[in-house]
Amino acid sequence: MMLEKRYDLENIRNESQGRVYERIDKLLEEQDDICKCETCVLDLTAFILNRITPRYTTSMLGNLHPDAVFEKKIEVEIDLALRAGLKQLQEHPHHS
Ligand SMILES: [Zn+2]
Repeated sequence: MMLEKRYDLENIRNESQGRVYERIDKLLEEQDDICKCETCVLDLTAFILNRITPRYTTSMLGNLHPDAVFEKKIEVEIDLALRAGLKQLQEHPHHS
């Protein structure tokens, strides 16, 4: 692909992804009744990321306009996706 040779695409970041990572981090600290193996945690993370609104920014600009409404929306989306993801993991475990 030419684009990634011509431009530094690493500067494009999805801010929603950072929120998900923080949420999962907290979950792993607080909850003991879930499997914390790499397979289950990565699967849960991908499940949530597929269900929330992304917000891409370039690190050159950063987040110039923090948007309270969007922040709230993302929080709610992550919460719902997390609950659905945990339920699916329980119903269809990757391993016993
Ligand atoms: Zn596991």
